[in-house]
Amino acid sequence: MLRGKTALVTGSTSGIGLGIARALAAQGANIVVNGFGDADTIANIERELQAHGVATMYHGADLSRPPQTEDLVRAAESRFGRVDVLVNNAGIQHVAPIEDFPVERWDAVIAVNLSSAFHTIRMALPKMKQANWGRIINIASVHGLVASVQKVAYVAAKHGLVGLTKVVALETATTGITCNAICPGWVLTPLVQKQIDARAARDNLGADEARRALLGEKQPSLEFVTPEQIGALAVFLCSPAADQIRGAAYNVDGGWTAQ
Ligand code: NAD
Repeated sequence: MLRGKTALVTGSTSGIGLGIARALAAQGANIVVNGFGDADTIANIERELQAHGVATMYHGADLSRPPQTEDLVRAAESRFGRVDVLVNNAGIQHVAPIEDFPVERWDAVIAVNLSSAFHTIRMALPKMKQANWGRIINIASVHGLVASVQKVAYVAAKHGLVGLTKVVALETATTGITCNAICPGWVLTPLVQKQIDARAARDNLGADEARRALLGEKQPSLEFVTPEQIGALAVFLCSPAADQIRGAAYNVDGGWTAQ
C-alpha cells in the first residue's frame, strides 16, 4: 500500500516507534530511522526493515535541539525527495511532584514530546502540500486526554500534542494531508519498564507483581497494548479508508479513558 512512499518515524530505535517502522516497512514504505542506540542495534534494525524490499536511512538527530530536528527532515528529503508519512513518536518521561520537578526535565520533556513535532511538521509540510498527499501521525498518550499525578510535564506536553494535531488537521483540511494523534495506554517498552522498576523498588514488589499493580491501577483490560497494535493503527491511518479522519485522537488504551 505504501510502496514508493517514505516514512520518517522519530524515536524508531525502540518500543512503539520501532513497531510502527516495522508495520510501515511491511507495507512497502522506505523508512527514515531516528533515535538513540548503539551502531550495531541500529544496523540490525535497518537490515530487518530492508528485508521488506525498502530503502532505509538513519539520522541520529537529538530532537531536543531544533537545528538537528530541521536537519533530520532536510536529510530525509534530500535522500528520498519528500516525507510522505511523518510519525512523531519520540518521547521521554520524568516522574516527580511538581514542587520537586527539575526545571531542566520540564524543558526536556516539552522539547522532545511537543516542540519536536512542531518543528518536523513545519519542515515537512511544504513538500507534502506540493504532492497533495501526506499522513502526519502524532503519538500522544492517554495522558493527552486525562491526567495522572507526578507527570506534569508529560501530561502538559501530550495535551499540547493533541491540540497541535487539531490545528494541523484544520490547516490541511482541504488537502490530501491528514493529521491525527494516537493515544496509547500502557505499552510494555523501556519507557514503562523504568516505571515498573521504580514501583517494585518503592513497594518492595516482585517484577510480575509490580507489572500487575501498574496495570490494575489504570488499565481495565489488565493487558498491555502492543507496539504491533499501534503499528497496525498507523497503517490504517495511512490507508484511503482514513482519508476523512482528521484531527482525531484515537485512544488505544484497554479501557483506561472509558472510566
Ligand atoms: P522508548 O523509550 O522505548 O522509545 C523512545 C524512543 O525515542 C527511542 O527510540 C529513543 O531513542 C527516542 N528518543 C528519546 N529522546 C530522544 C531525543 N531527544 N531525540 C531523538 N530521539 C529520542 O519509549 P516508547 O514507550 O516506545 O515511547 C514512544 C512514544 O510513545 C513516546 O512519545 C511515549 O510518550 C508514547 N507513549 C508510550 C506509552 C507506553 O506505555 N510505553 C504510552 C503512551 C504513549
